[in-house]
This record gives sequence, structure tokens and C-alpha cells, in this order.
Amino acid sequence: MALIDIYVPDIGDFAEVTVIELLVKPGDSIAADQSLITVESDKASMEIPSSHAGVVQELKVKFGDTVSKGSLLLTLDAAGQGAAAAAAAAPMPADSLMPNQLLALTDQALSATKIEAKVMPAAVPVVAPAAASFDATADMDCDLLVLGAGPGGYSAAFRAADLGLKVVIVERYATLGGVCLNVGCIPSKALLHVAAVMDEVSHMADLGVDYGAPVVNIDKLRGHKEKVIGKLTGGLAAMAKMRKVIVVRGYGAFVGPNHVEVEETTGTAQEKTGNKKVVAFKNAIIAAGSQAVRLPFMPEDPRVVDSTGALALKEVPKRMLILGGGIIGLEMGTVYSTLGARLDVVEMLDGLMQGADRDLVNIWQKMNAKRFDNIMLKTKTVGAEATPEGIKVTFAAAEEGGTCPEPQTYDLVLQAVGRSPNGKKIAADKAGVAVTDRGFINVDIQMRTTVPHIFAIGDIVGQPMLAHKAVHEAHVAAEVIAGELQGNKELAAAAFNARVIPSVAYTDPEVAWVGLTEDQAKAQGIKVKKGLFPWAASGRAIANGRDEGVTKLLFDDSPHAGSDGHAGRGHGKILGGAMVGTHAGDMIGEVALAIEMGADALDIGKTIHPHPTLGESIGMAAEVAHGSCTDVPPVRK
Ligand code: FAD
Repeated sequence: MALIDIYVPDIGDFAEVTVIELLVKPGDSIAADQSLITVESDKASMEIPSSHAGVVQELKVKFGDTVSKGSLLLTLDAAGQGAAAAAAAAPMPADSLMPNQLLALTDQALSATKIEAKVMPAAVPVVAPAAASFDATADMDCDLLVLGAGPGGYSAAFRAADLGLKVVIVERYATLGGVCLNVGCIPSKALLHVAAVMDEVSHMADLGVDYGAPVVNIDKLRGHKEKVIGKLTGGLAAMAKMRKVIVVRGYGAFVGPNHVEVEETTGTAQEKTGNKKVVAFKNAIIAAGSQAVRLPFMPEDPRVVDSTGALALKEVPKRMLILGGGIIGLEMGTVYSTLGARLDVVEMLDGLMQGADRDLVNIWQKMNAKRFDNIMLKTKTVGAEATPEGIKVTFAAAEEGGTCPEPQTYDLVLQAVGRSPNGKKIAADKAGVAVTDRGFINVDIQMRTTVPHIFAIGDIVGQPMLAHKAVHEAHVAAEVIAGELQGNKELAAAAFNARVIPSVAYTDPEVAWVGLTEDQAKAQGIKVKKGLFPWAASGRAIANGRDEGVTKLLFDDSPHAGSDGHAGRGHGKILGGAMVGTHAGDMIGEVALAIEMGADALDIGKTIHPHPTLGESIGMAAEVAHGSCTDVPPVRK
């Protein structure tokens, strides 16, 4: 037996990162380069691979620990794997790792003429498996098979059909639209809209119009949400028909590099009929999405739900625990609290809504303090038990300084600790497509997998798991495929070259951000000029009785870049922007456009925004950066 210690390698700027997943356990035989744990910082998540092959003896880290370069991960019996080499147990070089999500924009990146890869899917290079051979007859064939009909899948299918391809979509559920339309973006926003109106109406009493206490008919409310979903998914089915896209209902899995076998499903869930169909394809796009992560120690109990269960809106609990302080949990918490639930939230990291600047999140938190009984930060959930009174949950401090509250009992526990990709569930290996240990599929900027005629898009290729990212990737993949099949060089050269992907928390107030954040600028030592416009100076926000918001724009102020005479010493172009306030999500697109166009503070400030609007705050934030805003007090000289 040659016992060796495996340490965290050099992971670049990632220090003190949190272990969010253990991918191996004692007794597991692992290969060199196999992923051992997943860690997450405020910027990205990444898998840490093993430097050696062997059998895992003892794990030295646990869920929620923080690790840095050199932290001991586990002991490995490397017998038979080259004990001499093992003795060195050298950390892996930094360049063998890539974060899953690199949304940080540097000024160098922005000024570069080449595309910047903002979306880096898999952390660990994966060896492509040998494809299986399949020579049975197919039931149907097509130019393009799309596996999964979420925003990625249906957008890819429709774009490809519009470009003249014969397209088949395989989807296991009865409706098109995937997570987003059926159990994600759309139903959550339907309920959030109702919650926002209820909150607004109750606020009216302060302004002299009192409608009294609301009476909620939960069945009717659920019916409204279902109607919204039905309208959109029905619309998709009609559009598929108009485009002659063939929808095959069933569970698809690869059986070879050019064939998918579909096990037919029926009903509203995924009941299998036993019938099978084989579809032959020239090209395929994998758009099989992701699913909610379930903590292994949570009991099987109807009072423990994921976001899909929460959206089912069976009843309103008195006490609700949100596990995980991310956007999805906080959005659902907003709905339930407006309907009457008291909220607790537990988060391992030191703040809610990670990724957004703290100054903005603090404004949201202050406005929402009344919804929460307890906000437990740097705290982890370590156990849960189903009791007649409710779900009894126990906590522990996630790190020094974290809280360790007494166990609490809840009527509803929402698990919102993240989503994991479905890459392991589609027999991708039979097609020769490499999948990481976590289930992500590596792609290049044309969305191509390790198999040249098979592409992947959406949640399955990496963070950020957002519908608008999936749709853009979908169009790229469809265009590349159509271009290659039809000899159209322009289409075939399509690539995912968006500089930034906006994020929005549709809470009340909304929090929206895009590009570089101020916290990232500080952490990365990027010098920026900030234009901050407080909505307390916005006529529209005051008229609306909602002037708590701010709009913040960040412009390049780095000393190295050639000055163009505009704002700052650097090139002065906008690097990022963020807003907290009502309708922030509807306005952040303008900031994204400004970044894509390389606008500077003058470009944005001199663009005439209509008055009085909340969008005006973007122009004014640019003027603040430029020093020409007359709606805020003069700058002290
Ligand atoms: P999915 O939407 O996951 O679709 C994948 C499809 O593939 C599914 O229909 C699935 O049934 C099907 N499938 C999988 N495997 C197979 C198989 N083997 N055979 C056949 N079919 C298969 N994003 C936003 O941008 N904005 C938001 O406001 C937002 N809100 C959200 C709220 C919630 C509660 C949740 C859970 C998510 C939210 N998201 C939001 C994220 C968004 O829903 C996803 O990023 C998006 O749906 C990903 O699209 P996709 O096409 O990659 O996959």
C-alpha cells in the first residue's frame, strides 16, 4: 500500500473557497484527473481533480469546508499506480483548471478584438469515450436532432428549421419549454407579479388609499399560474408545427454517434409506455438541461420541496426555511412571504445573493428585513428530521464567525442549493461525447462537443444557468450546423461571442447586474470610475414612492489604456453596471448593450432618455461618472 496525500493544487486567484460537493467517498477507485470535490467562490465553481489514480482511503474535507491551495483533500492508496511518483504528490499546474464561470471582465478583455470566453463550461479536461457502434434500422431520420425542449432546445430547433433543416425534437414531458416555461422563469414570475401587486396595494394605504387586507384564493392563484404556462407552451407547440419541427415525446438516450433511442413517455410526468423509437441524425444538439440539487440528508417528505415543489403552491406555510440564499430561493421566499409565510434563510457564505455587489444587496436586504425571522449566514444545514410538528432542521457554523442556531421546526423547507446538469443521464458516452464527473459537457465557442457533429447548449454546458444564455447558445449551434450542411461559410462561422450575460433577481426591489461588478473590480485590482445615481434624486422613483434604488455604472479608469479624452484615464469604456430598484431587470439590457457596443460615459450620458422614467437613472449615472449631472448635488472641489 502506498498511501499518499492529495492536496488542492494551485487554483489561481481562488483562495478560501467553499466545498459545495464531494464527488468521491472512501473505497472509491479513482483515475488520475478524476474530479474529487467541487468548490465555489463568489465568481465561479470548479472541480478539483486528483493528481493520481488509486483508492480513496479517507476524506479530509467535508461539505461546507473552505479550502485553498495546499489544503489536504484526502488520502489515497496509490499502490500499483507508481509509488515513487506518488510520493511527490505534486499539485497540478494552475493551467489544468478552468473555472466553470468566468464572468469577470477585465479591461484587457474588453479592449481585445477577439471574443472573450465568458462561459467556460467544464472545469476539468475530460477524455472522450469511444463511441458505440449502432447499425440497426432507424424509425426516422433528420438533419438535426435536438435532445430536450427547454429554451435552449426549442430555440435551436426553430432556428435550424427556419434555416431549412429537417429537425426532430425529443422531449420527455408533454409540453415544450423545459424548466424555464414549465417550472422555472415563467411560473415564478407569474407568482412574483401577483406578490408585487399585493405589496404595492398594501403600500397604498400609506398614500391614502386603503384596500383592506387581501383575501387569497390559492386554487385560483395556482390556476392563473397554470394558465400563463399553458398559453406559452401552447404557443411553442403551435410554432413547432408551423415550422414543421417533429416533436417525439419520450426519454432520449444515445445508442451511437448518429442515433438516439427514444423510450416513449405519456401523461403529465414521464410514465414510460414501453414503446421505443430510433431516430437517426446527421447532427445533434444536446439541450437536456439541469435539475435541482437535493441534499442527501433531507427526508423524503411532502414538506421538503425544491423549486418545482414550491411552485406547485399547495398551501402557504406558517414557517418556511429557504436552504440557500441564491436568487431562486429568495424569489420563491418573496412569493410565500407576501402570501403570509414567515421566512428563515440559511446560507453557507457570508451574504445572500452572491454575485451581486454588496451595497446593492444591502438595500434589498433592508427593504426585505420584515419578511425574515432569521437570516443565518456562514451557517450550514447538517441534518433534518420529519416530525409530526414539521421538519426539524439542525444547523452548524460553516466557518469561524458563523452562527450555530438551535434546531428549528418548519412547515415547509425549500431546497435551493443549486442545480446539477443532466449530462450523465443521456448515455452521451455511446456517442463518444465526453461528460465531466459533475455531468457538464465541454464545448468550444461554437458549442461543439468532443464529437464534431454533436453540439451542446444551455444549463448542461455550464454556468450561468440562465435561459437567455441557453437561447443565444442555441442560435449559435443551429447556425453552425446549418452553415456546415449547406456550405454557407458565414453561418458556419457563428460563435458565442457575447461579452456579458446579465443576471437579475426578480425580488422586490429587483437586483440586476451585468459585466464587471465593483466587488470584482476591487478583487482583481481593476481601476474603475464609478457613476452612482441614487434614485432618491429620480423624479419618477419618488413619484412611485419607491426611491430606495440606485443605478451604478463602472467605467475603465486603468492607467495603461490609451485615453480618448472621455471619462477617466483609461479608454473610459463601460465595464459593468448594476441596479437595485423596481423594474431593474427590465432596464439592465441597456447597460448590456452599452458594454457590447463599447460605449463610454459620454455616449450613455448624451443619449437622451425619456423623462420621467427609471431608465433615466442610467443616463444620469453616466453623467455622474463624467461629472456633468445636474440632478445630484455638485461635486465638492
Ligand atoms: P431546460 O430548461 O432544463 O430544458 C431541458 C429539457 O430537456 C427539459 O424539458 C427536459 O425534460 C428535457 N430532457 C432532459 N433529458 C432528457 C432526455 N433524456 N430525453 C428527453 N428529454 C430530456 N433563468 C432565467 O434566465 N431567468 C429566470 O428568471 C429564471 N428563473 C428560474 C426560476 C426557477 C425556479 C428555476 C428552477 C430556474 C430559473 N431559471 C431562470 C433558469 C432557467 O430555467 C434555465 O437556465 C433554463 O431553463 C435552461 O434551459 P435549457 O434549455 O438548458 O434546459
